[in-house]
Amino acid sequence: MAFRDKRIVIVGGGLGGLALMNVALTCGITNIEIFEQAREDGEVGAGVDITANANRILDVFGLKDTLLRFSSPKLPYFMEYHHYKSGDYLGHIEEAHEPHARLIQRGHLLQALKEFLPHEKLHYHKHLTSIEENNTSESAPYTLHFGDGSATKADIIIGADGIKSKVRREMGIGDSPNFSGQVVYRGYVDYKDLPEDTANLLRTVVNFRGPKRHIICLPIGNKPTKTDRIGFIGFMTESLDTWDSENWVSRSTIGDLQDHLSEWCPQVQHLIQGLFQSSPDGFMMKQALYVRDPVDRWYKMKEGEEDVGIALLGDAVHSTLPHQGQGVAMAIESGVALAIILANWQGNDLQDAFQFYQDIRKPRTDEVTKTSYEAGKLGSSDDPNHFSENFNPEALMKRMEWVMDYNLLEDLHAKNNGRMAFKDSWLS
Ligand SMILES: Cc1cc2nc3c(=O)[nH]c(=O)nc-3n(C[C@H](O)[C@H](O)[C@H](O)COP(=O)(O)OP(=O)(O)OC[C@H]3O[C@@H](n4cnc5c(N)ncnc54)[C@H](O)[C@@H]3O)c2cc1C
Repeated sequence: MAFRDKRIVIVGGGLGGLALMNVALTCGITNIEIFEQAREDGEVGAGVDITANANRILDVFGLKDTLLRFSSPKLPYFMEYHHYKSGDYLGHIEEAHEPHARLIQRGHLLQALKEFLPHEKLHYHKHLTSIEENNTSESAPYTLHFGDGSATKADIIIGADGIKSKVRREMGIGDSPNFSGQVVYRGYVDYKDLPEDTANLLRTVVNFRGPKRHIICLPIGNKPTKTDRIGFIGFMTESLDTWDSENWVSRSTIGDLQDHLSEWCPQVQHLIQGLFQSSPDGFMMKQALYVRDPVDRWYKMKEGEEDVGIALLGDAVHSTLPHQGQGVAMAIESGVALAIILANWQGNDLQDAFQFYQDIRKPRTDEVTKTSYEAGKLGSSDDPNHFSENFNPEALMKRMEWVMDYNLLEDLHAKNNGRMAFKDSWLS
């Protein structure tokens, strides 16, 4: 039986899981469903920047118009840098890639990726608690159990359940994630709550670069749909000693953020006032940034079975610090790669298919993880007295070129070697 006729279950309806589902259905896989722990309307939004390498493949699979509806138009620069204290302009990186970066609220991105999916294939409020391996006389090799007492059967399981992946643990990978030393404060600011000069400055992506801290302002959405506002992302160095939540995502007073930024420029003070306007209760989202070390094996076969197994994608297997804005893009690339491979593989050897998927993806995601860590060091300066002299936007741009020039579909085509059916139209 071809993999496309197997019962495939995706755990996690985040960005990687939804990207996989879209392409799988387009490629003719029908027996595939998503089980997501959140309620359908339960998404906590944040601004994300989808770069050219991910947009390029989403467009091939018919998602361009739906994505553009709620995303930013082409912006003047990819990123503009300002001094944290004076607010002075330091330099910028041109947007040199097509399709250009799309800045969008995460909730709108999820909505766009769900637009063409049959509702009955998406199951919400289903928290995976365990995966049971059945013996061969059972009707399916795996049973997935959920927190509400329900269960479902599967031949192939895809763990797209984020950095705290339960599927990963069920596969026997018991490592712990590493705290990066930074926390992120996230919120939104409406343009109408800013003085005109500051509002105009923030119509492009701006990075206020400071000592061991930096702030990125994303002009997400667009005017015609009245979704335009600023996604505020403040990277602050903090110890976890005072962290009073068991979760990595918590709430913080805007005052805590203000304490970090008391000496920062007037534009940053305007942003803080804007955050207060958007959140009258005085709270905002705060997230501790963790990353996992790369693992050797992204999949696990069921013993004695040729065509039954589990694979991981997205943050579940290649989580990265967000300093190159690549977490979403890597999850999308991996989701699309796995969907194409499963739908078009010649033969029944699932291990070969999973290994091909890993061989295509792992070298790239390992490198992105490494360079994102380095980019974080450049984004915030360790030495505030010298950072203007050390700053070099051309070098920063060069660092990102290999990430954004990449075309997953060309890579799959080049390395395919007859192992799967491949449509030339995917290359146009
Ligand atoms: C501050 C910050 C800013 C970022 N900015 C960017 C950016 O600009 N650009 C970018 O590309 N990336 C960015 N990222 C990274 C990005 O958000 C993630 O890398 C991306 O969401 C990973 O996609 P995913 O599908 O693997 O996981 P997720 O999007 O996290 O989805 C996982 C899904 O699995 C579900 N789930 C988890 N456990 C279970 C379970 N047991 N049962 C059922 N469902 C479960 C979750 O509810 C979730 O919906 C940023 C990250 C941070 C922290």
